[in-house]
Amino acid sequence: MKTLDRFPRVSLGIFPTPIQKLENISALLGRNIYIKRDDLTGLGLGGNKLRKLEFLLADAQRQGAEIVFTTGGAQSNHAMLTAAAAGKLGMRAILVLKKRGVTACVGNQLLERLMGTEVRFVDTDDYADIYAEMDRIGQASGRPYYKIPCGGSNALGALGYVDCAREIAAQDMRFDHIVCAEGSGGTMAGLALGAKLFLPGTKVHGMMVDTDPFDRITPELMRESAALLEVPLEITPEDYHLRDMCGPGYAIASAAGNAAVSLMAAREGIFLDPVYTGKAFAGLLEMAEEGVFGEEENVLFLHTGGAGGLFAIEME
Ligand SMILES: *Cc1c(COP(=O)(O)O)cnc(C)c1O
Repeated sequence: MKTLDRFPRVSLGIFPTPIQKLENISALLGRNIYIKRDDLTGLGLGGNKLRKLEFLLADAQRQGAEIVFTTGGAQSNHAMLTAAAAGKLGMRAILVLKKRGVTACVGNQLLERLMGTEVRFVDTDDYADIYAEMDRIGQASGRPYYKIPCGGSNALGALGYVDCAREIAAQDMRFDHIVCAEGSGGTMAGLALGAKLFLPGTKVHGMMVDTDPFDRITPELMRESAALLEVPLEITPEDYHLRDMCGPGYAIASAAGNAAVSLMAAREGIFLDPVYTGKAFAGLLEMAEEGVFGEEENVLFLHTGGAGGLFAIEME
């Protein structure tokens, strides 16, 4: 195996992120529920994308890029964090965003305004068009550029969450289950692959908050990241567990998700978001209800961030 430490990486965040017990929610559910605070990764408003960007932007730097492109919806946490990280590293970020979701100057759009980020909206959902637009802008600039896919979810970005599994293993607690949101797939795929490598016996559950074919995307990304690491692993459906928590649609609040946001805020003083982490935690609550978790088992919820969206997405 090619160890993770051999991949170029820039230091952007504060790691390891803490693991805390959710005392009140554990008492409420009669189960041992912990939270890993990847909302506190330490740049911008925190969040999961920073772990991926440590690998992706190191690759961009190694290739001599001066401009970094990425994409997502109008309120993409990933795009905002990419702009923050690129600025810190002295690179210029250009966001080519889909005209989806709240485009007004609130939430992540406001944060991008504050950073002076260049944002171009394109009225398409077709990634081929979006990447072609990046190439047009990049070539016209005459500067070397680097394209990061939506959510930073490629084989290299997912290594950030393989590394997160290694980090959890070193935090000296055993978890029977890890639950996270799945939006573009890199977090779930990285964690599930990382669990296979570093957390034997831990089941990883991806709470799908979009309608993409994650039953195909998840194992594909796991295989691609395993290939990068040169580990000869066979990925089987036993290695990842998926649950549909999308509700009315991607980036549209769901009643279950909103209830989970309120529960976490009221009982633990921790803010989730309506697009990802609220829906994901609602999935954890459903699983607890269904008896998926044993009384003696330890369950870890991954807080992937999303604070920017909390101030932009309609929750009623
Ligand atoms: C992007 C994002 C996710 C989903 O992670 P993926 O790797 O894209 O599946 C979850 N939570 C928040 C807050 C995010 O911004």
